[in-house]
Amino acid sequence: MVIILKSRNINEGAKKLLQKIKDLGLETSVIEGESKTIIGIVGDTSKLDPSKLEANKEVEKVMYIQEPYKKANRFFHPEDTIVDINGVKIGGKKIALIAGPCSVESKEQIEEIASEVKLHSAGILRGGAFKPRTSPYSFQGMELEGLELLKSAREKTGMPIVTEIMSTSMIEKFVEDVDIIQVGARNMQNFDLLKELGKIDKPILLKRGLSATIEELLMSAEYIMAGGNNNVILCERGIRTYENYTRNTLDLSAIPAIKKLSHLPIIVDPSHAAGKAWMVEPLSKAAIAVGADGLIIEVHNDPANALCDGQQSIKPEEFKNLVEELKIIANAVGREI
Ligand code: PEP
Ligand code: MN
Repeated sequence: MVIILKSRNINEGAKKLLQKIKDLGLETSVIEGESKTIIGIVGDTSKLDPSKLEANKEVEKVMYIQEPYKKANRFFHPEDTIVDINGVKIGGKKIALIAGPCSVESKEQIEEIASEVKLHSAGILRGGAFKPRTSPYSFQGMELEGLELLKSAREKTGMPIVTEIMSTSMIEKFVEDVDIIQVGARNMQNFDLLKELGKIDKPILLKRGLSATIEELLMSAEYIMAGGNNNVILCERGIRTYENYTRNTLDLSAIPAIKKLSHLPIIVDPSHAAGKAWMVEPLSKAAIAVGADGLIIEVHNDPANALCDGQQSIKPEEFKNLVEELKIIANAVGREI
């Protein structure tokens, strides 16, 4: 971090500021220039609050040299993190395939879809039990009953399960029942939830917020990791732009950017990004080509009658064909499915 002072030399106020910084165990180096003074600070600058520093009357400007996230930063952790979910890995050479319906609707529905996607190489089953819907009048999910059905599909297929959490009150239950806890786009900056999820030892699938920058996504990951839970999987699921042909705009550039900035695995959700079933294939291919570690895809056995997101759900046989196509792309970029 660099602090630029208004004065060209270290006055009494600046001395006090320097002492405060040193008292926090940080090293400082001072350059007195023609018209301004620059203080370089080395050490764990997360101890410093930039808004408080900027409020100091001696200070002209505060500049970050390094990103504000530390634990999620590749600079401090150069090797890729691989999250292991009962033997299914996310972040290694193998592309992780997560598939299943938007929502759990019945025992038959979830078990049938689970066994189909498993047959076609999916390693993890998705299914919403608690649904964050824009309208309070839309189907809100089967809630605890849905969770039970998801567990029975896990029992039948042996696939780990991922489902979305919406409230801190459900954490204990999810720790007990679920293999990966999903934090949806709408809760990416629910800091109370993130802090509580930092205290547990369960993989977290953190989806990018609807209008969140890459840095905000990484800061949310930092919230979880700051509590001691390093098992974070990031997910690009499209962001709000002025374009409304698609439900969201898939930010493919976020994948190489996040790979450069962070060691955490990053997967792509082409279903919620596009909002159109026919776009799932090209976007999935593109995601793997740019370096995604996996995909989370909505698959439904009867999209026309799905209770949620049928328009973006592909059928199991389409998932099968998609996986065949993806194997070629994965091979071309040195990955495997
Ligand atoms: C979901 O995965 O079911 C979901 C609601 O996604 P998002 O939070 O990305 O909108
Ligand atoms: Mn959905």
